[in-house]
Amino acid sequence: MSAWAVPEREPYYLPAGDELAVFQQCHRRGLAVMLKGPTGCGKTRFVEHMAWRLKRPLVTISCHDDLSASDLIGRFLIRHDGTVWQDGPLTRAVREGALCYLDEVVEARQDTMVVLHSLTDHRRFLPIDKTGETVLAAPGFQLIVSYNPGYQRMLKDMKPSTRQRFVGLDFDFPPETQEASIVETEAAADHATAMALVSLGRRLRALGDRGLAEVPSTRLLIAAAGLVASGIGARQACYSAIVSPLSDDESLVGAMRDLVDATFV
Ligand code: ADP
Repeated sequence: MSAWAVPEREPYYLPAGDELAVFQQCHRRGLAVMLKGPTGCGKTRFVEHMAWRLKRPLVTISCHDDLSASDLIGRFLIRHDGTVWQDGPLTRAVREGALCYLDEVVEARQDTMVVLHSLTDHRRFLPIDKTGETVLAAPGFQLIVSYNPGYQRMLKDMKPSTRQRFVGLDFDFPPETQEASIVETEAAADHATAMALVSLGRRLRALGDRGLAEVPSTRLLIAAAGLVASGIGARQACYSAIVSPLSDDESLVGAMRDLVDATFV
């Protein structure tokens, strides 16, 4: 769960297409939005940026398979002076007109997702069964979910009836020069290092076909660039920040290290 405040400073976000305008229109019309794309490609940063642009508080909820409807809606707490109701983060967002961002939504159980339904159509309300209250969404409330369509595709997916409640925005790793500019800005790295890391990233992503569960994200390239900027040798920075987090498989690690060595000779 994250802070409620509107971000003070503009979170840096380099747009890839029309996503700012599309999101802004969805917000105006109270439409729920689904952000699809690989891990670490900028979905969360985009939402932070939009919260800043729209001047709305943002609450982020990281979904997992233990997340219950009560974790979202709230629960009765037993105190020495009696029982009190405590709103969960979703209820608070609905009352306060915040952006509510459910990250990795497919990780949550289907029965948890059902509580979102009445918020994703024209009704815009949240029923709280335990108190009998119906909370109407305050102006500005918007539901945003993200997921990675490639990851655990066979095991988990969103039900078609749930998906149809969202406007979809497709995210992917940005084109080379844009990604280099993100790496440069975020890691305060020099241009040549950023370019080399991005070109390495492209080649490593091609290994996805050879069994790499997740390909290197922009986030990993930024981490490597940050190590280089602080004086660590480029090869070592890549082994530690890119290769090691991605796999334990000896042959894949070997193949990735070879690509690192070929990039930073
Ligand atoms: P996701 O939510 O898709 O897993 P994030 O939004 O956390 O990924 O992105 C990871 C990092 O990559 C961000 O913290 C940011 O530094 C950087 N990043 C990725 N795409 C962009 C972008 N378009 N503009 C600015 N920063 C970006």
